[in-house]
Amino acid sequence: MLFASRSSRSVPSVTRVILGRTPKVVAPAVAGLVVAVSAVAGQAATAVAPAWPTTTVVVNSARAVTGTVDANATRVTLQQLSSGTWRSVTSAAPTSDGDFSLTVPTWWLGSRQYRVVTDTQQESAATTFAIKPNYTPAGKASEHEFLTTDLSRRNPCQPIGWRLNARQATAGALTDARIAFQKLGQATGFTFRYRGTTSLIPQWEDDPGSYPADTQIVIAWARRGQSSLFSTGDGDAYANPYFMEGYHNADGSPTMRILSAGLVIDSTVHVAAGYGAGITRGDLLLHELGHAMGLDHVGAPAEIMYPIMGRGAARYGKGDLAGLEQVGAKLGCVYDGAGH
Ligand SMILES: [Zn+2]
Repeated sequence: MLFASRSSRSVPSVTRVILGRTPKVVAPAVAGLVVAVSAVAGQAATAVAPAWPTTTVVVNSARAVTGTVDANATRVTLQQLSSGTWRSVTSAAPTSDGDFSLTVPTWWLGSRQYRVVTDTQQESAATTFAIKPNYTPAGKASEHEFLTTDLSRRNPCQPIGWRLNARQATAGALTDARIAFQKLGQATGFTFRYRGTTSLIPQWEDDPGSYPADTQIVIAWARRGQSSLFSTGDGDAYANPYFMEGYHNADGSPTMRILSAGLVIDSTVHVAAGYGAGITRGDLLLHELGHAMGLDHVGAPAEIMYPIMGRGAARYGKGDLAGLEQVGAKLGCVYDGAGH
């Protein structure tokens, strides 16, 4: 039996809460899905009636909203509602006839609202899109748990860099890791960037300064004696998310920011490559990265966050997706006490 474990809650100092430090200053919203804030407020807008595509969409399907705007408009913008604010996603110049076509993002799972606005104060009614996985997730949406009481999150307004130490891994580790981050990005709305290889092996004692400045997640295969994380329990793999208090979400609710995480996988435990049925490296990576995003174990075997591997194909259940959506980009940026 293969156990995929977080650093256990019964060893509370592993899931660390650091008090009394000055949080790192967070840059204002830039990266990810949100490219600019556009305030089209207060004016009596005239209507645009665009032709919206089918609003239940399989992830990564090509979808565009089309229509015609008034002759004076020089810019048409697709906006997404995020934490009560309309944010611009993409924009284009209309043709001389006022026709436009804008790509609707379909890479991020979940439901969200869009509208079309122009620089001449025209705006459309809001339309909700539901982006679905390309399979039917098992389990129930309620089957998710978080590592901390005040929902801890990473900051979705900065990309998350990751590095891999696959010296002791079997072939295909980088490919499997890239797929895991792609799936995690679809579930959370976060942007993940591969920063290259590393010789680091995550330890229980790590803090964000243990990793290069461009790197917030390190994944390594190692023998048990090479990482103190293996001493924290009997798991074959561990994640050590590093939390810091004193942050809040865009809606003002308190949050602990997850600044970094190291993942170690016992290199002497051989699992199948890929994401097929049974005990796979894909399953293991999705599970440990779930901890790295703030998810805890659940008792439901249908979910990736169930701590004993060996289910069907390695893909998120309904509970995993619901939990990842909650810690994801939907709540907007994570701000420090000074509002940065
Ligand atoms: Zn676990």
